[in-house]
Amino acid sequence: MAEGLVKRMADQRVSTQIGNTHFTLMIEVPDDCPICHRSINVGISGPIVSTIPDGSQAISRLQVLFRCPRSKCDRLFLGVYEGTWKLGSPVPASSSWKSTLFPAVLAPREFDPIICRLSPEFVRIHEQAAVAEMHGLDRICGAGYRKSLEFLIKDFLKSVSPDDTEKIEATQVGPLINQYVSDPRLKIAASRATWLGNDETHYFRKWEEKDLNDLKKLIDVTIHWISMDVLTRDLEASMPASGPNPSGLIKVKGA
Ligand SMILES: [Zn+2]
Repeated sequence: MAEGLVKRMADQRVSTQIGNTHFTLMIEVPDDCPICHRSINVGISGPIVSTIPDGSQAISRLQVLFRCPRSKCDRLFLGVYEGTWKLGSPVPASSSWKSTLFPAVLAPREFDPIICRLSPEFVRIHEQAAVAEMHGLDRICGAGYRKSLEFLIKDFLKSVSPDDTEKIEATQVGPLINQYVSDPRLKIAASRATWLGNDETHYFRKWEEKDLNDLKKLIDVTIHWISMDVLTRDLEASMPASGPNPSGLIKVKGA
């Protein structure tokens, strides 16, 4: 099951049959709805069992229909439990059966409002990349994360240097980071995120020991330092070293 889709599972007993063999399985049922992501207590409808011979092995598939009891959701979803076992041997323990829920809707990630204001397009692209990843599209989701990173960095640099907007939009991210980013921590995170992001879009990988999780981690670190930079500049603008704006001072009676 994709990470983050269903946080908790509880065991529930299911009686069913494969061929002429009756048996009872303990299957994991979700404690959280995979669509509305609220805590639920579901009942089980079914199950339907099918067994597909594959050489000397068999793959048994147990399909169970669930319904979210929340009136605001009330959606049906399917639990699929698959176990592989050797023909003629006992059906494997249910703990070894792989479970998946359909459909599974990704819980939207809440980005820092600073990032949402700075680059709403980054947020949209990042969300779509996460959906692609959730659906197992591991050959293309990295390119989506790489694209989101480019929008984040360019929108950030445009906010810092608005007079260079056209140049920033037309220049590749790597040279932009070298030229415009002065914070060494942001420069480290953003440059390395770009390197790994490029690996997701090119024919050859340069960083073979690194993977998608490393890219996502570096994007998160980049988000952090960009948020800190924007926050610091906002604070500096509202509290300049020259002191409060005279128009904002409160006149003391008799002074
Ligand atoms: Zn629900």
